[in-house]
Amino acid sequence: MTIDLRSDTVTKPSDEMLQAMMAAEVGDDVFGEDPTILMLENKIAKYFGKEAALFCPSGTMTNQIAIRINTQPQDEIICDQTSHIYNYEGGGAAYNSMVSMKLLCGDLGRFTANDVKENINPDDIHYARTSMIALENTVNKGGGSVFPLDVIKDIAKVAVEKKLKMHLDGARVFNALVKTGEKPVDHGKCFHTMSVCFSKGLGAPVGSALLGSKEAIARAKRVRKVLGGGMRQAGYLAAACIYALENNVQRLKDDHRRANQLANMFEDKMYVENIISAGTNIVIVSIAKDKSVSDLLNAWKKKGLLAVPFGPNDIRLVTHLNFTDDMLQKVTEVLA
Ligand SMILES: *Cc1c(COP(=O)(O)O)cnc(C)c1O
Repeated sequence: MTIDLRSDTVTKPSDEMLQAMMAAEVGDDVFGEDPTILMLENKIAKYFGKEAALFCPSGTMTNQIAIRINTQPQDEIICDQTSHIYNYEGGGAAYNSMVSMKLLCGDLGRFTANDVKENINPDDIHYARTSMIALENTVNKGGGSVFPLDVIKDIAKVAVEKKLKMHLDGARVFNALVKTGEKPVDHGKCFHTMSVCFSKGLGAPVGSALLGSKEAIARAKRVRKVLGGGMRQAGYLAAACIYALENNVQRLKDDHRRANQLANMFEDKMYVENIISAGTNIVIVSIAKDKSVSDLLNAWKKKGLLAVPFGPNDIRLVTHLNFTDDMLQKVTEVLA
């Protein structure tokens, strides 16, 4: 038995999900004729109280489209230094949108309205025009930390005041919502555009959506096309996402429980310096400077446990719907 905790993207569709996919009604979505994609787009837009949604192949694409439609060349985005859009999208903001980034040093990726205010550039030709604020919730590099709704609301006020666009990278926003019990629409109100992923904790094989106003999504559709993201009978994929949304959201609390138990297992380990885990589905373990991350990962791998390096001294483990209590028990043995 291999226990794969490298990411919550490693899940495979369940038999029930596959059945839903096989039964999907499909059409050519580039002609706007795939009923299952239209159903998913309607459903997810309503879920967060937004006017419209656009189905895309990946979360990177939804984020990149959001940056493109929310900015002009020479603009600047305010985001945290840990953010996915800065670290893990291949420099896409510069490549696709010709914008720079002002990086904030938040608390596990979470910054405040004040941090934002202090980093809006003055209207002066020496500076890039600040035009967008990007938040991530939960924060991947923050060990799944949750951005508090009060703080998000305060930042949204600054965005309105200063006429900046607000974007959420919500690849794991469902984890945040299940953890806090907050209403999706209360989050939706704070953002111009939101990215959500069905292929992370929700267990669909492929699929993300960008949400926003009708006008924003109409423009997003043009950008998706030029990035090569127009898909044809992709309703088979959208059916998996609908299934995921209807069946796999509440169960995220099981992933959170198992991540907590996993974090606890490291408490008494001599080689561990620090553990970051925010009570959602990510655990980041920092190991002593004189120990090697790759040696430890290789030793685990030999015993059937997979995780990823996450910086020079850090290892990330992520729980997901194919990680069971039996596997959790097995991890105890591997770590012993
Ligand atoms: C996974 C992830 C994405 C999107 O990744 P894709 O692999 O392109 O779907 C975006 N933001 C965060 C925070 C993520 O963890």
